[in-house]
Amino acid sequence: MQTIQMSDIYGQYLTMKKEIDSAMQEVIKSTLFIKSGKAIDFEKKLSAYLNTNVIGCANGTDALQVAFMALGLQPGDEVITTPFTFVATVEVLALLGLKPVFVDVCPNKFNIDSSKIEEAITNKTKAILPVHLFGQCADLETIKKLTEKHGLFLIEDACQALGTEFIFKDGTKKHAGTIGHIGCNSFFPSKNLGAFGDGGAIYTEDESLANVIRSIANHGMKAKYQYERVGVNSRLDSIQAAILEVKLKYFDKHILARQAAATYYDEHLSGIEGLQIPAKASYSTHTFHQYTIRTVKRNELQKYLGEKGIPSMIYYPGAIHLQEAYQFLGYQKGDFPISENLAETVLSLPMHTELTEEQLEYTADIVREFYL
Ligand SMILES: *Cc1c(COP(=O)(O)O)cnc(C)c1O
Repeated sequence: MQTIQMSDIYGQYLTMKKEIDSAMQEVIKSTLFIKSGKAIDFEKKLSAYLNTNVIGCANGTDALQVAFMALGLQPGDEVITTPFTFVATVEVLALLGLKPVFVDVCPNKFNIDSSKIEEAITNKTKAILPVHLFGQCADLETIKKLTEKHGLFLIEDACQALGTEFIFKDGTKKHAGTIGHIGCNSFFPSKNLGAFGDGGAIYTEDESLANVIRSIANHGMKAKYQYERVGVNSRLDSIQAAILEVKLKYFDKHILARQAAATYYDEHLSGIEGLQIPAKASYSTHTFHQYTIRTVKRNELQKYLGEKGIPSMIYYPGAIHLQEAYQFLGYQKGDFPISENLAETVLSLPMHTELTEEQLEYTADIVREFYL
């Protein structure tokens, strides 16, 4: 059996090598590296896939930053999000002088607990920023109603959920990131659709907002050497776009491969006492950016897996409100008990498109063996 990897980017590349290599060569020959050539082609293709406007940018963190710059908020305005996320979600708010206000997450789905949001809304609240953690949507229909009721922006951190669909109560579906005013995505190599370096994208249905975002991400430019606002330099380059364009062709197949691996884990790991498998929301598909289990014996299990040659990762070992850099927000240990508990009990198992049945069987057997 081949060594099991947490994420197999090279193995996946080998299945598309010819196409990816020639697409990269095409970019070099064309010399259309920035805001031209494949960068434009890929934006169009992703836009058709998601059925919304897509603006490429340099990474997912920038996607969030540019999104919040485009809203024209004032320093001190409050944005509601969760402390159980990747740091970038909160970092950009702090950088822009906005105030992150945390709401705890659900213990089984790991996303913001929509029933606790309303009590966190104040007259300074301007936006809600749900994170679709590990590839499953937050409870967007409830959250959208709250944003409409209180006149707030809904910005989705969809960095882990490209390909995921939100299922409305009436049965209609929409892609993660296309339901709020703005959606943010990352093409970090290990994400659902990963580049061979950094990359990101911003989505919005609103044409005028799309123009503002496009301008901000390109130095606040209106026309060549005319600047209408202070912007940043955040662009998706054509080499990355060329790789992503090839991978997008196989994206649905790759999502199915992740889901099949998750189904295998589900079937073979359910019913073990003391181990919680990922809970599925009725209102979302799941694309399993991570397959994350929960157990009080987390550290022992991780050590045991390691000894048997199975990698695993802790996403995330510390809730943001307890991190040194975010002490200025004034939160304390105990403020978000579920997030704090998750930081001590979650463990993500190997999850990628190239896992073989043999590897899945071995991993599931070793996990079961640990609990015997
Ligand atoms: C990856 C990620 C980001 C940031 O994306 P980068 O491309 O690494 O900057 C933001 N939020 C979440 C939830 C992420 O997983």
